[in-house]
Amino acid sequence: MVLDQNKIQHHQFDAVIVGGGGAGLRASLQLAQAGVKVAVLSKVFPTRSHTVAAQGGIAAALGNVAEDKWLWHMYDTIKGSDFLGDQDAIEFMCKNAAKAIIELEHFGMPFDRLESGKIFQRPFGGMTQNFGETPISRTCAVADRTGHAMLHTLYQRNIQANTQFFVEWFALDLIRDADGDVLGVIALEIETGEIHIMQAKTTLLATGGAGRIFQASTNAFINTGDGLGMAARAGLPLQDMEFWQFHPTGVLHAGVLITEGVRGEGGYLVNSEGERFMERYAPHAKDLASRDVIARASATEIKEGRGVGKNKDAVHLKLDHLGEELINKRLPGIREIAKTFANVDPIHDPIPVVPTAHYMMGGIPTNLDGQVVVNNERPVKGLYAVGECACVSVHGANRLGSNSLLDLVVFGKAAGDKMALEIAQNKAHKPLPINVAEATLVRIARLENASGESVTEVGAAMRKTMQRHCGVFRFPDLLAKGVGEIDAVAKRVQHIVIKDKSQVFNTARVEALELDNLMEVAMATMHAANARTESRGAHAREDFGGRDDINWLKHSLFYKQNNTLAYKPVRLKPLTVESFEPKKRVY
Ligand SMILES: Cc1cc2nc3c(=O)[nH]c(=O)nc-3n(C[C@H](O)[C@H](O)[C@H](O)COP(=O)(O)OP(=O)(O)OC[C@H]3O[C@@H](n4cnc5c(N)ncnc54)[C@H](O)[C@@H]3O)c2cc1C
Repeated sequence: MVLDQNKIQHHQFDAVIVGGGGAGLRASLQLAQAGVKVAVLSKVFPTRSHTVAAQGGIAAALGNVAEDKWLWHMYDTIKGSDFLGDQDAIEFMCKNAAKAIIELEHFGMPFDRLESGKIFQRPFGGMTQNFGETPISRTCAVADRTGHAMLHTLYQRNIQANTQFFVEWFALDLIRDADGDVLGVIALEIETGEIHIMQAKTTLLATGGAGRIFQASTNAFINTGDGLGMAARAGLPLQDMEFWQFHPTGVLHAGVLITEGVRGEGGYLVNSEGERFMERYAPHAKDLASRDVIARASATEIKEGRGVGKNKDAVHLKLDHLGEELINKRLPGIREIAKTFANVDPIHDPIPVVPTAHYMMGGIPTNLDGQVVVNNERPVKGLYAVGECACVSVHGANRLGSNSLLDLVVFGKAAGDKMALEIAQNKAHKPLPINVAEATLVRIARLENASGESVTEVGAAMRKTMQRHCGVFRFPDLLAKGVGEIDAVAKRVQHIVIKDKSQVFNTARVEALELDNLMEVAMATMHAANARTESRGAHAREDFGGRDDINWLKHSLFYKQNNTLAYKPVRLKPLTVESFEPKKRVY
């Protein structure tokens, strides 16, 4: 592996995009089609990005099944966010949703169809007609493989548009000059171990989620929050990191996701007494209440001894009553997953499921154009973020299912447009600071030290701490203790080394560097969660029964420097319509 500054290779692009998932590829397509010289870096082959695993669908008020309006979608999203979402961003997303779906269809995405020939739509949690009146079918789908279809469609379009891909390249750090402007990234070519400087007029982070801070997660192994780590090391804040969504239906012991689409199609949860318990917790929406509500209900059933299985540590997801034909047509992937990971065929038997860490509502703060913003909404010149690594914030304290795929394409496109504008205004590249890669090289070089702890050991300690101290329900004593514990693990991360030096591949180095990034995410999460003394959306504290809008209707910003927290107001004013005032959230 090359660790020599003299051998570093330089490249220049108008735009560098870190991440080949749905967010990165929607933005790169916009840029490539505008004739911009754009590079996409991805640590895995782009179509292996986590977007490929999205099952249930993508939301838009098309009204193909029943009357629908984007304003209803906007209301549901604000309510789902427990009023922490920024209403201008939510309006922008919901208003542009239908257009985004039609565009995907024209790109060639093979949506399922209704009898009428229109795009098929299914019900999803929290999606309703007429401001909460009745559940509505708003989620467009390609069976239970929507993300797969979307990602492949976008990839093919990028090939056609001549986007340049750097596959199995691992971005290490942002390049930021003395003015605070971002001038590209430093990257590692995994196969050769060479270090590259990717100089760019605009840089977009689209690195996805970080579910791997927890022991049990629906996320892929690659979801390690690299973009957040890069931002934090560059002195930028991370927003709303206390809000993590636990999906109600991860397969017990495996973590693999069973889409909410199962409940959309009529499946429901039962406890050991065979009771459909959601009728008690959310009499109106039942199994299609918001995810945070259902995750807490399941956790409570298990805690109170009504769990299923040998250890009574799960609940059952029942769908056999849907019939073999529907299951095979709309949920074929789910049947496969249930057979492989739970050893049950859902045509006959229920699937044992538990609330499992799934989605990061927080992220790198941005405005509606995807520009990264710090205090006073001032954009960082040259830096953008979109997708799960970003916080725009449309999901607030809790995301509604099928709103993430939508977030990727709506804001991916908006960021691409804004980047093209910024590039047009900057004819020349700004000069790079001297010794630009020094800090990064020192960080990598520590892994070769003779003694220290292994990546596996320290990573396990981090995941255990997060799982125990920062789960579905949060307890004051556990949170306070968790802060101390996670700070201690962070210190250990500084001394990790690659153990067996004779057998080292660069993938082992990448894993170590991913732990650096996970650690930034874990720190931000624990500190922000400990500080927020209310229960809102996915952040449910035992010591605070409800929301406290007087003191806490605000976004948190965590800074790595001295582990400080700052706060900024929620943007309650939409772009063109009236505000939705915070009110009690019931389903
Ligand atoms: C199992 C599962 C099912 C889901 N189902 C749905 C659903 O039905 N509907 C919905 O709306 N949402 C769903 N979600 C959420 C949604 O899929 C994700 O939030 C979304 O796909 C994230 O997209 P992204 O483009 O931000 O990141 P990703 O798709 O995760 O892509 C990240 C990209 O960044 C690259 N990358 C990361 N770090 C680096 C680095 N250091 N250097 C170079 N490249 C890097 C990766 O290689 C990858 O290409 C689901 C999530 C999961 C886990």
